[in-house]
Amino acid sequence: MNVTELFGCNVFNDEVMKNSLPKEVYKSLRRTIEEGAPLDPGIASAVANAMKDWAVSKGATHYTHWFQPLTNLTAEKHDCFIEPDGDRAILRLTGRSLIVGEPDASSFPSGGTRATSAARGYTAWDPTSPAFVKEGTLYIPTIFVSYTGETLDKKAPLLKSMTALDTQAKRLLKLFGIEARRVATTVGPEQEYFLIDEDVYEQRKDLVLTGRTLFGAPPARGQELEDHYFGVLKGRVAEFMRDLDETLWSYGIFSKTKHNEVAPAQHELAPVFTTTNIAVDSNQLTMELMKKIAKKHHLVCLLHEKPFEGINGSGKHNNWSLSTDTGLNLLDPGENPETNARFMLILACVIAAVDDYQGILRACVASAGNDHRLGANEAPPAIISVYLGDQLGAIVDSIIMGRTYVPKKAVPGSIGVPSSPIFPIDTTDRNRTSPFAFTGNKFEFRMLGSQASVADPNIVLNTIAAQAFSDAVDALEGAKDFPAACKKYTEQLLKSHARIIFNYNGYGPDWEPEAERRGLLNNKTTADAVPEFFKPENVGVFVRQGVYTEKEVFARANIALENYTKSIRIEALTMIEMARRDIWPAVNGYVAELCSVISAKRAVSEKLTSSADMVLAETLTTLNDSFLTAVEKLEKDLSEVPAGEVPASLAMAHTVVPDMGEVRRIADEMEKLTSSDYWPFPTYYELLYSVK
Ligand code: ADP
Ligand code: MG
Repeated sequence: MNVTELFGCNVFNDEVMKNSLPKEVYKSLRRTIEEGAPLDPGIASAVANAMKDWAVSKGATHYTHWFQPLTNLTAEKHDCFIEPDGDRAILRLTGRSLIVGEPDASSFPSGGTRATSAARGYTAWDPTSPAFVKEGTLYIPTIFVSYTGETLDKKAPLLKSMTALDTQAKRLLKLFGIEARRVATTVGPEQEYFLIDEDVYEQRKDLVLTGRTLFGAPPARGQELEDHYFGVLKGRVAEFMRDLDETLWSYGIFSKTKHNEVAPAQHELAPVFTTTNIAVDSNQLTMELMKKIAKKHHLVCLLHEKPFEGINGSGKHNNWSLSTDTGLNLLDPGENPETNARFMLILACVIAAVDDYQGILRACVASAGNDHRLGANEAPPAIISVYLGDQLGAIVDSIIMGRTYVPKKAVPGSIGVPSSPIFPIDTTDRNRTSPFAFTGNKFEFRMLGSQASVADPNIVLNTIAAQAFSDAVDALEGAKDFPAACKKYTEQLLKSHARIIFNYNGYGPDWEPEAERRGLLNNKTTADAVPEFFKPENVGVFVRQGVYTEKEVFARANIALENYTKSIRIEALTMIEMARRDIWPAVNGYVAELCSVISAKRAVSEKLTSSADMVLAETLTTLNDSFLTAVEKLEKDLSEVPAGEVPASLAMAHTVVPDMGEVRRIADEMEKLTSSDYWPFPTYYELLYSVK
């Protein structure tokens, strides 16, 4: 296999465009793609025709407007290129069909922005993300809006947030004499996932219906030996990864790094970063292909944030930076950050934005699945803070304290092997416990859940950064002595947002009380986190930056709460079914067997009667009784969940979820005591260790 030939072979990329489009058409399209210039409708027919010819040459018969409704998934409706021409068939894609589509899309969540009777939704081509051919269909990335123009998807607001950031960052750069044509954010999302055997998976209703195990005692061996992390890939896993890589490359996705993660059966894939919009589309496609290709290998890819209790869950690290069209990375501190006024101002703006909008930054990654991770000693805590590393931390400290900064140069280091090259030790060491860590020339936002779309956090990041840049420019534009004014503004920002900076262990027991003292938010559940979106200052930032209207912010927050409530309800119902129909009878069956063993022994001789048999039968009977009581409590509480997004989600978080915890606790206790012949589904041992 030739990787360079394979790479992008299914993509209508720049090279294909250049070769297949008339020169003027190509130039005009490039301007739209690179500078965000409005698309010239006059070129649509030519582009559509070239795209269709290319797609047909790749075996496509259909095309689809590919969009991202307010689920975490993508949506597609396929239309054939075929059209009648007399009694013959011709293949055609008109300019209009490329640019707009009109799926009857009344069943997508809209959070009340659209009545079902006015269901019309439009898809519109996003030329900044390349089209591709997959399984006989040409995929055209599109945004999805309602008849009245409200956004119904994740791409439209993402593009708007990128425009807001572009506008404000360019204004800011102008203060430093830099005329950029475009500033775009770049994202590299590291994706964690689990792979388990398909046969074992099929026997677990909870995994099939909810994506996670609702029951399961911990196996004798979990992740404590830390031997899975970066361990040798198992045969089937290696084959899956190879197949996945090749497929991703063919779609122009720069899949770069793959390795085993901390938990047994857990893995990670990291692509090379790219423009945010493309990174989001690529990540959606990556998740879809992971699931599909796993199936081919008789495996199941679990993207849930917490498939298994007691071992690590899966997240997604959103590496985020911003750079100009000429490749200047605005988060690159350079050799001497302390004298780099531009970098220090931008850094201070990002810190201020994260502090001011910590509520929505936390809220945008909230979901039923992610609630199991954040704050659970494996992912960052639910408290937002910023980690700067030693060098920047010391610079910022000295500014806040009003002291002179004494540069601590990166020291030449050695890995202690005589023949090894000398290399400078990184000045920003890794801090794995921070939710928002500066890592060299980018920030790494680590709170994302593994199955969530990366669009949401980037919409928020871009919007709040744009706001902070805009505030800075408003304050500094026209300053008589710009360098002095800039220095003062940077200092003030850092001083007034010092509370958000935390350079120590975020898992430590001291952090929570300290964060509380600093007045930082600590919203542990989705139900508590998401209402942050309703606060006027948070609605305001989206409205001012032109990303969402007030109505759209409310709609999105309500959808997030609704999704949360629905997910927990599905989990609770699945749990009840498994409890009543599988676990309870199984334990009873085993107790009955124990009882018949006891009476059989007694029939032979009183001496044979083992008290251990009786103790076990009694213990299990007592446990099973209290199990049923716990299930009944869960059923009752579930039936009493009030209406309305906020009250319903709060009841789920604070009553139903704890009830489920109790049901599970007793079941897992019984699992350890019940004969494996009777236990009704595969255990953690089988789930985690059956892929060879
Ligand atoms: P780790 O966090 O595991 O140590 P790396 O530092 O190698 O990993 O990078 C992780 C991710 O960060 C990769 O996907 C990489 O492409 C991405 N990345 C690197 N530079 C940037 C940047 N300027 N903007 C956005 N993402 C970046
Ligand atoms: Mg990382």
